[in-house]
Amino acid sequence: MGTIKIIMYILIIVAILYAVWLVVSSYKRTKAFFEKKIPPLTNFHTHTTYCDGECSAQEMLEAAIAQNMEAIGFSVHSHLDSEPDWTIDKNEMQLYVGELSNMQGDYEPKIRVLIGIEQDYWSREEDCDIEGIEYKIGSVHSLIEEDTTWSSVDYKPENTATCRDKYFDGDIYKMVERYFELVGDIYERTHCNIVGHFDLITKFNNLPNNEYNLFIDVNDERYINAEQKALEKLSKAPVIFEINTGGMSRGYTTAPYPSERVLQYLGEHKIPVIFASDAHTTDTLLYGRDEVLKLVEKYNLELVNYPI
Ligand SMILES: [Zn+2]
Ligand SMILES: [Zn+2]
Repeated sequence: MGTIKIIMYILIIVAILYAVWLVVSSYKRTKAFFEKKIPPLTNFHTHTTYCDGECSAQEMLEAAIAQNMEAIGFSVHSHLDSEPDWTIDKNEMQLYVGELSNMQGDYEPKIRVLIGIEQDYWSREEDCDIEGIEYKIGSVHSLIEEDTTWSSVDYKPENTATCRDKYFDGDIYKMVERYFELVGDIYERTHCNIVGHFDLITKFNNLPNNEYNLFIDVNDERYINAEQKALEKLSKAPVIFEINTGGMSRGYTTAPYPSERVLQYLGEHKIPVIFASDAHTTDTLLYGRDEVLKLVEKYNLELVNYPI
């Protein structure tokens, strides 16, 4: 065999190897592209007519199926004697768990249904720890146990303003400090899997003309200290943080809870997050999800798609 022939064979072999390598590597890249798949459509912060939601559980479930969701979790507002309007009647808890567990039987595997509760800081354990409840969102909605309505930070601006004036000497940052003290304590209090709307206290920051003087400067030293204390405490607990778009869908806020500073902390401390629409209607089940995914990417957050 002449030298030229040998060189030709070698070149052919090299060319074949190169072609094989090209095919394999492009396959790998294509596979990686598809594997970096869009997270499944899930939401576990959902309210129904069992509490203050506008639609029945059945309607929410059907809407979730229509939107091709992989799973839906229901999170009824836990019972509070003082708040019959927006919390579940304690005698209805069995009915709630019963209806949802029937749904699990009827609809899985078409859609996964999880039975949860949004446990308010002030709710009694025996009203929440019902057999069949699979996960808990722990939330602070008001600051004074004896007066949940007029110490609410989640109802009307006038209630929050009353809370500040009546219980915190008109000092809004004193109110903030109390709020974050309770939030920092939420895992110990409720044993929640998820921390609900971590900085809900900023809900009224965008009121026109700063009505009721409820604007809170999140860069105020006292605010930052209170926030950081809560974060440090919760970072030691086995919890996931919500990125909650409920304030956006109802027109109060322009960004999800919590703030980007908090998201940065969660990213740096490897605390997982979960999308939460806090839906009260069928059309908001996935509200703001794209925005949440962008924040997840921006802060390198660990997104979980299921709370358990
Ligand atoms: Zn809530
Ligand atoms: Zn909620």
